[in-house]
Amino acid sequence: MNCPYKYRPPIVDSGRHSELKDNSKMKFKSDITIIGAGVVGLAIAAQVASRNRLVYVLEKNERFGQETSSRHSGVIHSGIYYPEGSLKAKLCVEGNRLLCELCRKHGIGYQKLGKLIVATSDEEITQLEELQGRGQGNGAQGLKIISRHELNKLEPNVNGVAALFSPSTGIIDSPALMEYFAARAGDGGIQIACHKKVVGIEKVSDGYKVTVAEGDRGKFSFTTRILINCAGLYCDEIAELAGIDADRAGYRLHYCKGEYFTVGNGKSKLVRRLIYPVPEVKGTGLGVHVTLDLEGRMRLGPNTEYVDSIDYAVDSRHKDYFYKSAKKMLPFIEYEDLEPEMAGIRPKLQGPGEDVRDFVIRDESDKGFPGLINLIGIESPGLTSSPAIARYVARLVENILR
Ligand SMILES: Cc1cc2nc3c(=O)[nH]c(=O)nc-3n(C[C@H](O)[C@H](O)[C@H](O)COP(=O)(O)OP(=O)(O)OC[C@H]3O[C@@H](n4cnc5c(N)ncnc54)[C@H](O)[C@@H]3O)c2cc1C
Repeated sequence: MNCPYKYRPPIVDSGRHSELKDNSKMKFKSDITIIGAGVVGLAIAAQVASRNRLVYVLEKNERFGQETSSRHSGVIHSGIYYPEGSLKAKLCVEGNRLLCELCRKHGIGYQKLGKLIVATSDEEITQLEELQGRGQGNGAQGLKIISRHELNKLEPNVNGVAALFSPSTGIIDSPALMEYFAARAGDGGIQIACHKKVVGIEKVSDGYKVTVAEGDRGKFSFTTRILINCAGLYCDEIAELAGIDADRAGYRLHYCKGEYFTVGNGKSKLVRRLIYPVPEVKGTGLGVHVTLDLEGRMRLGPNTEYVDSIDYAVDSRHKDYFYKSAKKMLPFIEYEDLEPEMAGIRPKLQGPGEDVRDFVIRDESDKGFPGLINLIGIESPGLTSSPAIARYVARLVENILR
């Protein structure tokens, strides 16, 4: 993909940002510090950027966007699945609209391919109707149940008795989106400081003292008026560093791995849209589905497996499960077509067998932590929601600064 944006660190001529590079100047103060440069932290940075504010984004890896934000399906969701009134529902629907506008306006690669949730038995049609009702309640655009005949016309190689068609679902070049957010943040003078792992947070009279480790270069500290925790898979640990009891607050994450298998042997061209099964009731994911990327490559995934640690290896023994899950809807798939590709890990608040949980995005003043904004459990649809999350957080920031 040709992305017109490339993040360039801001040119610093006033020494304004030099403090983060120079450990001897440990007493400076920033207005806003964002922990984590995934798509969410970057979107927030782009939104709160202002030449009148000193804002830092701290990222422990050598570059932004190397964790969950580059290990996902790349789908712009329409907002079908989430409970009515939830942040997931509202921010997904708003995010879908905002992302498509951004992509159109700024040349970020995307395609509104549309998606079909396919019923393979008559019993599943009732679930399609429920999903349609829920999606419409959430504001998802253009949802329509189509018959077997209409499905055959749209996707002759897909097997099903009916489907829910979502025309506003699409796919996006997420690396380009992150470059765009980072470039916007850079335009606003924000420095994205990589190789900076937050290892300590202490509440002080006018904000937070943040301690940062720079590999073997040692540690340094500075204070910030507002601290925004966008640490993805580590957001519960960051909340704890600040002094919040993650278990009592209900912030403890459960890691839920999702693997992908590519579909080779020239089968990619046999479907034109994203094809999903009817999700399990109380399920942890959307079911193994077909995603296409902007080059038209097809892959299956992600499955759901709760894990104790972060390990992105794909277990090739799961191929059988992928094959059987996909074969019902996609009879053209053969076992030999599948190859392990990659995996991502969902930062879930919902533990195994538990009810679905919403995003937590809140200013923690009422817990005794004024100026601390936590973003916890930003799993799917976090990519879709990123520009809407950024607006939501910017409003919290303005309220704090008022
Ligand atoms: C399998 C899978 C499929 C998905 N599919 C979709 C999809 O199709 N559509 C969709 O909308 N969403 C999807 N999602 C969800 C989406 O990918 C996430 O919601 C989104 O990427 C979260 O972004 P983030 O910035 O919150 O987290 P991350 O990308 O994880 O970024 C957090 C950053 O914080 C940094 N960090 C952590 N601790 C520290 C520290 N102590 N100091 C400094 N930095 C730190 C990390 O290094 C990381 O870069 C999917 C997720 C998964 C796992």
